[in-house]
Amino acid sequence: MFNYAFLGTLRRCIDKKIAVLTSGGDAPGMNACLRSIVLAANHYSISVLGFEHGYNGLINNEFIELSYAAINQGIHLGGTLLKSARCEKFHLPSYVELAANHLNALDIDALIVIGGDGSFRGLQVLSQIWNKPVIGVPGTIDNDLFGTDYTIGFHTAVETVVGAIDKIRDTADALERIFLVDVMGQHSGFIALQASIACGAEFAMYPESKLSEHQEIEEIIAHIEAARKLHEKNSFIMVLTENHPIGNAQQVADMLTKQIGIECRPCILGHIQRGGTPCAQDRVLATKLGACAVDSLVSGKNKMMVGEVKNEIVLTSLTDTYEKKKQLDIALFAIQHQLFDLVNELNSD
Ligand code: ATP
Repeated sequence: MFNYAFLGTLRRCIDKKIAVLTSGGDAPGMNACLRSIVLAANHYSISVLGFEHGYNGLINNEFIELSYAAINQGIHLGGTLLKSARCEKFHLPSYVELAANHLNALDIDALIVIGGDGSFRGLQVLSQIWNKPVIGVPGTIDNDLFGTDYTIGFHTAVETVVGAIDKIRDTADALERIFLVDVMGQHSGFIALQASIACGAEFAMYPESKLSEHQEIEEIIAHIEAARKLHEKNSFIMVLTENHPIGNAQQVADMLTKQIGIECRPCILGHIQRGGTPCAQDRVLATKLGACAVDSLVSGKNKMMVGEVKNEIVLTSLTDTYEKKKQLDIALFAIQHQLFDLVNELNSD
């Protein structure tokens, strides 16, 4: 468990310099986190350099000074002031070494990376050759990191998906159509589960569903038929995670249209899920984790991710964040399946 005891201390770290970067997919709340890191660092008299474009910034030595004035206005902005990026070169040891050399040349004392599991794999690799403390902050809409109940950006992404599906519902109702809504979460169904419950989707498929392709198609058809028996003229909305093994939204829509003879429409939400103003919950989480990341460094922590579990700040080793599998909320999963089954039960009464 995290120890808050030193938060209020007047410990000063004069002449210390930390670096921060945002990596992987951007997530709403990253700017709030950067602001908090700068504020907390200023509290300890630590200066902050921000590297741009993820790990590319370390390789290309692209950085800016992050002053309080530069960062203070951004708490409500989506995206990331530092830009984010994937960086293929960082998989090659020679580029990791180049990044370490640039950090050394600038006398950087520690590095904070805001990103997802891939970014933490990269940070772990860097920490094997760069002998200074590193801390990860979970920033990804996917929420798929072990060691934190929620990642920065997840709640905003769910709100965006719910807002979009509510709009799709209006037109689906008017036209009495079946819609398949494709959402992000190729490896985990956190967004699909929460959003499909929040908007009352009639069915949802995500990686944790664990049905065979044949079973899933049969189950979807059974649900559509049961739902239409109950409310013949109603819409039917199914949420589906991207790149699902059963097929993408277009392929599944085509398959269903052919098998049940009713036109099914795909709707791929794509990158709108990453954008937009961060919701209050993400801003608060980002502010908390940003400050705790700096506090962790000041108290001598290394190779850890700072997260929040059951309202407590916890530190988890970087390797555990991506090697251990974070499970979906089992109770929520069970409730959803009971709701799906209810339609069939009502039909058999
Ligand atoms: P998101 O969840 O939004 O996709 P992410 O951090 O998981 O975010 P990735 O594209 O998986 O996004 O990883 C971001 C970057 O981290 C990669 O582009 C690469 O630069 C670095 N990275 C990932 N895995 C490794 C690795 N094994 N070794 C070195 N660097 C890595």
